[in-house]
This record gives sequence, structure tokens and C-alpha cells, in this order.
Amino acid sequence: MRIETSFLFDLDGTLVDSVYQHVLAWKEALDSEGIDLSVWRIHRKIGMSGGLFVNQLLRETHDQFNEDRVERLRVAHTAAYQRLRSDVKPLPGAISLLDALTRANIRWAIATSGRMETAKFNLEALGVDPQTAVVVTRDQVKHAKPDPDLFLAAADRLGVPIEHTVVVGDSVWDMLAARRCRALGVGLLSGGYGTDELEKAGALRVYEDPADLLSHLDEVAARP
Ligand SMILES: [Mg+2]
Repeated sequence: MRIETSFLFDLDGTLVDSVYQHVLAWKEALDSEGIDLSVWRIHRKIGMSGGLFVNQLLRETHDQFNEDRVERLRVAHTAAYQRLRSDVKPLPGAISLLDALTRANIRWAIATSGRMETAKFNLEALGVDPQTAVVVTRDQVKHAKPDPDLFLAAADRLGVPIEHTVVVGDSVWDMLAARRCRALGVGLLSGGYGTDELEKAGALRVYEDPADLLSHLDEVAARP
């Protein structure tokens, strides 16, 4: 029996070069609420769910967060990201990688902790139409990464067993989520995390960016 491999991709830092724009957008949102947090601390949290992000903020800033304040932060982040989005480009090889998978009849989906209000700009830059491709955003699941819900929902929409999927992501949150749903984790360095951290979080292979993954595709997927 031939077991087909399908791919579940994270979006920010994995297919599009948007991590730093998100970090700066969060920085601006936090500043507007008078919350002082260094840029590197924000970077470490990109890719996890907004709820956990706020919990970690609470822990690190000893600040008070009620629902209104969380909502104001989300709105301010979205507004700032909209201004920065023109700088967001696909990562090298991202478009070719998705094309190559499509041509080889290998199924793929995108699963992001972001909401559609920001993800839509990145999808546009990638040339991915969420009406025709399988795209799962934070809006569609109860818990985002490092919970596995986004990847489980994406596999479900593709109609493939999660055990036969490769989760490709740039952050430890992707790798932890992959581990928790028994998918194979493949890490990319294009979001700023290092090889050691990705491997410790469960990545079986680590590549530089989508172009590097494309040229080593035979290491992680059965030949079409
Ligand atoms: Mg990411």
C-alpha cells in the first residue's frame, strides 16, 4: 500500500516573510496601551495563539488585561500590520514549492494562528485564493498553536489522516503542535528560530526556507 504524504504549512515566517512586520505591529499595539515589552520578547511569541500570547504578557509584564484591553490590542495590531503589509513578500521558493506540490498531486493546506483579517494580505502576496485552496485560520478553531487544532482541521479538510501529514513551520509552536497530533514536523529557519530550538521542539528535519525544502523534497515526501 502506498502511503501518500500531504503538507500542512504555517503561513508567517514559513511561506511569507512577515514575522518582523508582525513583531513591529505588536510592538506598536503594546506601546499604544502603555505596555513596555522588548522587541525580542515579542518575536519569541509570534506564531502562538493570541490567547496564550496575552497570558504570557500577563506573566512577563505583571500587567492587567481585561477583555476590552485584549480586543483593543488585537485591533491595534491589525491596523499596524495593514500599514506594514506592503513590505511583506513570499519567502524564496514559496510559490514554486506550492506549485511543485500541486503539479505532483500532493495535497497541501495552510494552517495559521493568525486571523483572516491579517492572513488575507499574506495569501494575496502568495497568490493563494482561500476560496479554492484549503486555508484554516484562527477564526475557525477553538485553540491555536501550540494546540494541534489548526493542523487537525486542515488535515480533515484535505480528507487525509493526520499521521500522514508533514507539518512545515518556522516556530517552536508549530513543532509542538505537530508533535501533539502525531504529524511529522519539518522546521524552516526563515522565521528566525534556530535549528536547535526547532529540533528540541520536535522537528525531524530543518531547512533554511521553502526553496531549500523544495530542493530536498525527496527527504520528507514519497516521490510522486
Ligand atoms: Mg510562523
